[in-house]
Amino acid sequence: MTTIENANPSADHATVFVILDAGRSDYVREDAMPFLHGLSRTGYRGSFESPPGFAQRTTMFSGRYPDTSGNFSQFVFAPERSPFDWVESLGPLGKLVRPRKVLAPTRWAIDWITAKKTGHFQTDPAWIPPEFMPYFAMCEDTQPVFEDGALGAPSIFDLCREHGLAFRYLAHPVSGDDEEVFDTLVRELRQHAPYDLYLAQFSITDEGGHEHGPFSDAMQQRFLRDVDAKLATIHALLSTRYDSWDLFVVGDHGMAPVEQRVDVLSALAETEAEPAEDYVVFVNSTLAVLWYLTPKGRKAIRAKLPEIEGARVLDEDERRDRRIPTEERWGQDMLAAESGVLFWPDYFHVRDSTVRGMHGYLDKSDEGLGMAVLASSDPVVEPREADPRSLVDVFATLCGLLGLPVPDTQEGTSLLDRARREPPVAEPEQEPPEPEQVVSDG
Ligand SMILES: [Zn+2]
Repeated sequence: MTTIENANPSADHATVFVILDAGRSDYVREDAMPFLHGLSRTGYRGSFESPPGFAQRTTMFSGRYPDTSGNFSQFVFAPERSPFDWVESLGPLGKLVRPRKVLAPTRWAIDWITAKKTGHFQTDPAWIPPEFMPYFAMCEDTQPVFEDGALGAPSIFDLCREHGLAFRYLAHPVSGDDEEVFDTLVRELRQHAPYDLYLAQFSITDEGGHEHGPFSDAMQQRFLRDVDAKLATIHALLSTRYDSWDLFVVGDHGMAPVEQRVDVLSALAETEAEPAEDYVVFVNSTLAVLWYLTPKGRKAIRAKLPEIEGARVLDEDERRDRRIPTEERWGQDMLAAESGVLFWPDYFHVRDSTVRGMHGYLDKSDEGLGMAVLASSDPVVEPREADPRSLVDVFATLCGLLGLPVPDTQEGTSLLDRARREPPVAEPEQEPPEPEQVVSDG
């Protein structure tokens, strides 16, 4: 596990930010998460709508929408800098790389060789078909999100460093599993470790939601109870061992039950256009993105797209309105899955995996929103039930909780009703202490 050592031994305050991956706002109920439900009555309770795409961490940690941040998905069309350009030389051997559990070693081998060849931080090609691999490069994870300038605009990590605050990063992609994250967090809170901000991620809600579905008994009776108990422990430590504290629990998106599968790759294969010769496609579970290499490819695929069931083509205006980047590297055409439809097989799952829940739908009617619960020892929020907010608001809220200045690169609005303290100024003024004023009214 990666540790970030940046000691601040004077901390008697701790802000704990918990990302509950795919934690729906309607999970916060008395019967499903009794502790969190009770806690939410003492502070802010609401929901977050995630911007389209798959780069929620960029949104939460720098307060920007995908079209501003340039981070929309894990992979971007960039043949000129693809770390996988060597995969072309595999020739027919590449055919061995097919999304089946038994063939996972072929994917690890490509990951390993690519890392060796390029020295990049993350080089896992997911299950991109080998003929398409040389067209793609990584986007969000070219370096750890907490590194200097990693998000292209001041991040919560950059601000902490600049203002002498210490943070502990226990979230994707450097953390371990939920138990490891929890054990580390509990141990360090108990030891009063010198961190001002803890960022922890629990993923059982995402993993279990994909496998069993958001309304399954496994989710409603086991996974949520388990996370709820973890949150209760964290809260108990905060409230007994710290002078002041915040506990901010956020679902980065919701999760919809999957009702239908649509095979986009097979539908495109019915046309006369040849994959990797006439067109390139990236199949995400809820969004398929296309690039055309020849006029023939453009004509054939464009004619086919409107016929694909359970999906609709996004035009440029809608992309702009939804804050989806419109640059060509993010797709010349985009096909969005209707609510409950899963594009299958997508490039992140093996064909033989069970997927009963999915997120990333533009239509949130089944996916729901992410949870938002903020409790604090200080009166920074009035206890209230609030309307849905955008996930970009997480960043400004974290800045407010930590007393950090909110950079003008960000686009969100803090949830807080009042600041904990004034943001620190770059050069503190050296004023002589004022004589105590004695006010007499009689
Ligand atoms: Zn997921």
